[in-house]
Amino acid sequence: MLEKYLEQLASYNEKIQNYNFCLNMIYWDMETEKGFPSKGIEKTGKVIEFLSSEVNNLMINSKSKDMLDYLSLHKEELSKIDQRQVELLLRNYERVSKIPVELLSKYEGLKIKAQNVWVEAKENNDFNLFAPYLKELIEYNREFIKLLGYEGHQYNTLLEAGEYGMTVEKLDSFFEVLRKELVPFAKETIKKFEKFDASFLERLVPLERQKSFSNFLARYIGFDLDKGLIKESEHPFCMGIEPNNVRFTTHYYKDNFVSSMFSILHEGGHGIYEQNQDESLIVTLLQGGASMGVHESQSRTYENIFGRNYYFLKGLYPNIQEVFPEFKDISLDEFYKGINKPENSLIRIEADELTYSLHVMIRYEIEKMIFEGKLEVEDLPRVWNAKIKEYLGIDVPSDSKGVLQDVHWAGGMFGYFPSYSLGNAYASQIIDELKKEIDINSHLGNGDFAPINSWLNEKIHKKGMTLDPNDLIKSVCGEELNPVPFINYLKEKFGSIEI
Ligand code: ZN
Repeated sequence: MLEKYLEQLASYNEKIQNYNFCLNMIYWDMETEKGFPSKGIEKTGKVIEFLSSEVNNLMINSKSKDMLDYLSLHKEELSKIDQRQVELLLRNYERVSKIPVELLSKYEGLKIKAQNVWVEAKENNDFNLFAPYLKELIEYNREFIKLLGYEGHQYNTLLEAGEYGMTVEKLDSFFEVLRKELVPFAKETIKKFEKFDASFLERLVPLERQKSFSNFLARYIGFDLDKGLIKESEHPFCMGIEPNNVRFTTHYYKDNFVSSMFSILHEGGHGIYEQNQDESLIVTLLQGGASMGVHESQSRTYENIFGRNYYFLKGLYPNIQEVFPEFKDISLDEFYKGINKPENSLIRIEADELTYSLHVMIRYEIEKMIFEGKLEVEDLPRVWNAKIKEYLGIDVPSDSKGVLQDVHWAGGMFGYFPSYSLGNAYASQIIDELKKEIDINSHLGNGDFAPINSWLNEKIHKKGMTLDPNDLIKSVCGEELNPVPFINYLKEKFGSIEI
């Protein structure tokens, strides 16, 4: 019996992997390089619908449930990997099966409509156009919370979808530290940098040279281009189809060369995670990141902790000046200050290392209020603008640059934002451990990523989804989420830059 069910599990895995492979290839094709014929979208939509429902049917049919129940009862006889697969598949089954299929498909339809309306609302700076859709999306999520149940706070159920084990209690104390420590420090640091002129970063740089530099930079940090590729899209993203087929995108701007440079480092960090899964996980469903937050910890590490590190830049700067003689007259120190200059800004995705988490904190506070029933949709712009003023000290000129800026809510993604901030915190915790064993500045200065990457491979990447995020962070750092290393990192770094 056990053998039969294990065979079934293997074939189940293979099917899900293959369907997801096809779905990902389609998404990649649609999202990159404007290469998709508009009249082909309808048929493609149908294929996506077919493949997604096949995956869903596989995951929640009674045959699969019987298999999972049997294997769960015979846990001791399974390998560690199979035990974990069964645990995650059952967890997923519990979640998906509690929500009626009709409700879910209505919600999917609403999301598509809401996203279209959001585009229009953002373009026309018309929050009222989007408000009724947002209300409905929130109602659906309230219903999901009811169906799924919750422990402690209602919002926990939504948080858990992206970051298993995350709770309002943990996030409240996490953001409390950021509010107390980071808000005044950011204000002070921004003031210090005010007189530093970083406008040389807007010098025009031809796209062709930027493109060739991208491949060089990805290789430089250890992304394997034989197992991956880089293309262009409106918003950069990374897709790990399987470890030997990892793709990511960037966006080039003639007058902002560093934008693409940091996208390459960020998405390259995600990519390195995906490329370095353990061999034993290849035929399982445990490939990929432990959670959104942990995935983001890796991208933020390569983008900020490494990418905006003085020694890293010192090693790389001769190459930058060679490919981009536009910066020949800019010294290493000036360039370093330029890429680290913090500013209060309106748009989260353009925010710098210092203020980024404050943008996330605002969204967290707002989402929590919504699901506590303390905030009506009509009041959202007012509350949003007040929080931007309070934490970042700036006025929001329009809802397009305020509450309407992110697509997440239109896509039904509630409880998703905190992961971005957790990524920063986890990254600092992990790197503090790495520093105990490896002198990272000297390796970064030599462009020698091998020892750094192999440490991260062993501790994080190879583990795939074998551990929940809390357990993984604890296994590497000896404790769960802790904002202090992140705050210390920022204070030490920005405190030591003399203007
Ligand atoms: Zn990312």
